[in-house]
Amino acid sequence: MEGFYLNNISKYHSLLDALDPVPKPRIPHGRPGPNMIVSARIRPLSGSEEFPSAVFPRRDQGNVIDIHDLYNHPKGQPILKSSDYQVDRLFNMNSTTKEIYEELVVDLVPYAWNGGVGTLFAYGQTGSGKTFTVSKVEEFVGETLMNGNLDGKREVYITIIDLAGNAAFDLLNEREPISLREDASGATQMVGAQENQVFSVDDMRTMVERATSFRRTAPTLKNPASSRSHAICRIRIKNTVNGSDGMLYLVDLAGSEAARDVAVHGADRMRETKQINISLSALKDCIRAKAQSDNAATLGKEKLGQKVPHIPFRQSALTRVLKHVFDPASTRECRTIVIACVNPSLADVGPTKNTLRFAELLRVSIPVKEEDT
Ligand code: ADP
Ligand code: MG
Repeated sequence: MEGFYLNNISKYHSLLDALDPVPKPRIPHGRPGPNMIVSARIRPLSGSEEFPSAVFPRRDQGNVIDIHDLYNHPKGQPILKSSDYQVDRLFNMNSTTKEIYEELVVDLVPYAWNGGVGTLFAYGQTGSGKTFTVSKVEEFVGETLMNGNLDGKREVYITIIDLAGNAAFDLLNEREPISLREDASGATQMVGAQENQVFSVDDMRTMVERATSFRRTAPTLKNPASSRSHAICRIRIKNTVNGSDGMLYLVDLAGSEAARDVAVHGADRMRETKQINISLSALKDCIRAKAQSDNAATLGKEKLGQKVPHIPFRQSALTRVLKHVFDPASTRECRTIVIACVNPSLADVGPTKNTLRFAELLRVSIPVKEEDT
């Protein structure tokens, strides 16, 4: 595919130039659950990139992304195949992680400080900017948490693990294996994982760096050190007066590329990729089910005219660890932010479309309340 794109770059440019400047308006594709924001971040093309951008934030329609793919017409010249996608909030090539943090994430910190569960997922193919985004966010969270501006007495603890297949490892303890076990209350415990108390911004930074250095990497042709595991940073904020706690989960998901797109094959790599895809699909199902049950709680079940869905968190280690984020039986307040990360290069257009399709699938349609009509 890359060869086809490479041979047709000038054709691609002329097709783009001939495009209708006013695209058809995008019809909104549902909306996310009431406690969720689905965003996308388009990273800049890297300097060494030989391909043009195939991803275009739409100027006059907020948060819509146009993608122009090149299609090899069997009976003639290549043609454009255009598609569009919508998210709640779109960050383009010029956005900084600081801006994303301030607009999207910073409120999760006082939320967790006061007992809520805030979760951030970075989703996207390898090389799309997930680690770039999450590692910076972790640093900013450390600053917000530790700078002393939040009211009340709290202790802050950090645990960082990663999940490869169904196995879990402690990234703060030289990647020692740990086990995931459901306790009597139904919550999943990370048994054997260190939970380190954090006293300063520097402490937080040191631990995040230590974890990063132990993250498992396996080479693919495209990315010599691509991450094939989900990294989960859990920050627990303990209220020292009443003993309750709030949580922040910052999740740098494994690359979402399909097994067929992974450049180096080999049986192990294929199996690993399939397992990643299963866990990402389980994540999508859990997020959707949670959105539907939150809608039911907000609107009243009878208005939805449908059964509150079962939350399939048992399907993967990823969704088991994050069970209480999705569990409708949980009495905890939960807020979730998803950042779909995208590399705009024409060479990556296939996986990019998959990423944005995934983001749209997290939006569920909400029936209109009778009194609103
Ligand atoms: P992923 O974790 O999704 O595999 P990375 O975060 O490692 O991807 O990003 C891949 C490369 O692109 C890295 O070299 C990273 O520094 C760079 N990069 C990613 N996002 C940005 C951005 N918004 N601005 C500048 N460089 C970026
Ligand atoms: Mg990464």
